Amino acid sequence: MKYDLDHPEIRDGVARLCAEFPGSYWQDCDRDQAYPTAFVAALTQAGYLAALIPEAYGGLGLPISAGAAILEEIHRSGGNAAACHAQMYTLGTLLRHGSDAQKARYLPGLAEGSLRLQAFGVTEPNSGSDTTALRTTARLDGDTYYVNGQKIWTSRAEHSDLLLLLARTTPRDQVAKRTDGLSVFLVEMAEVKGKSLTIRPIRTMMNHATTEIFFDDMPVPQANRIGEAGRGFGYILSGMNAERILIAAECIGDAKWFIETASAYARDRKVFNRPIGQNQGVQFPVARAYAQMRAAELMLKEAVRLYEAGGNPGEEANLAKLLAADASWAAAEACLQIHGGFGFAAEFDVERKYREARLYQVAPISTNLILSYLAEHVLDLPRSY
Ligand SMILES: Cc1cc2nc3c(=O)[nH]c(=O)nc-3n(C[C@H](O)[C@H](O)[C@H](O)COP(=O)(O)OP(=O)(O)OC[C@H]3O[C@@H](n4cnc5c(N)ncnc54)[C@H](O)[C@@H]3O)c2cc1C
Repeated sequence: MKYDLDHPEIRDGVARLCAEFPGSYWQDCDRDQAYPTAFVAALTQAGYLAALIPEAYGGLGLPISAGAAILEEIHRSGGNAAACHAQMYTLGTLLRHGSDAQKARYLPGLAEGSLRLQAFGVTEPNSGSDTTALRTTARLDGDTYYVNGQKIWTSRAEHSDLLLLLARTTPRDQVAKRTDGLSVFLVEMAEVKGKSLTIRPIRTMMNHATTEIFFDDMPVPQANRIGEAGRGFGYILSGMNAERILIAAECIGDAKWFIETASAYARDRKVFNRPIGQNQGVQFPVARAYAQMRAAELMLKEAVRLYEAGGNPGEEANLAKLLAADASWAAAEACLQIHGGFGFAAEFDVERKYREARLYQVAPISTNLILSYLAEHVLDLPRSY
């Protein structure tokens, strides 16, 4: 299999770090539904989670291609970056729209690892795909906002110091467009946890440290609002392309892991006195998944190229996420099937990676919503919802 040579030193470094955390480590975390604390600490210590933070604040000041390389290698090694990837894509909102004072207050701590920005509170029980229908409110009284409402699927809330929160600051019936009147806040969770902020873990089919969170008059200083009041939806949207790119990179990493694992097993496993990989019925699904992965990888590179040239490549970032998620899922199916009964045994890691890979058909944006985006914004078809 050909290897991506972009950022080879970073890829080598991440691969070496990941080798310290073999399948048995991830199996134990998965069995216990435990946060991979040691892995995240090692990644932080090595500076990888500060890759995209400007050097002036103590980070590595690298472009998004470096973030993509880091996340891809983690997934390709058999691990999972979901425990810590949010810092890379939520950071853009703070970098692009935060004030100098906010950057000075938070970025150095994030860069050295003493602060974590891993929680992203957008989705609510009644507003997943339809973000602007969210009901959580933030009411300004003096120089403090008071937040009331609920978020769901707020992943890593128990393992983060900061929460990037989207809430309505002007009621929906008082704004011209439903995308208006939403604001973004950076919440210091230690201050309010267990008081006006309640966090409840949600058990899921894979180990994802996700939660639902409840706000009961939760105070947030006005100084912690990012950018202008009422323009938060645009700030969150502007980070979406980065998120699509980084998640696509994870899917490419998963696809490579499944393809390499499937090929190795098919070469070794003998049935009827010959390797199962000698049968075209066994070869073709994995060869097709490889073709899908390579095509998705090219689209990802194109999205990264445009993004790093200062563009806002909505089409390419969405295409990359769609194609990469499909490629990883095709590879997951091929890999599980090739392993026969052993694909279902936890010690082979295939069933765990299979459960983990399925998420990307739904989150952070579902396949249908990407297709709707392409239909409406690229093909100029009427909006369907
Ligand atoms: C494990 C996990 C972690 C997550 N982490 C976070 C997080 O950290 N922060 C956060 O804010 N959110 C998070 N999410 C939420 C995630 O972004 C949403 O689940 C996702 O956006 C889909 O929203 P929904 O679940 O409400 O589905 P719905 O919006 O209810 O959609 C249900 C189904 O209907 C389809 N559908 C809906 N409308 C249309 C339409 N108009 N046309 C065609 N199909 C349609 C969708 O494609 C989907 O398949 C997470 C979710 C999961 C499962």
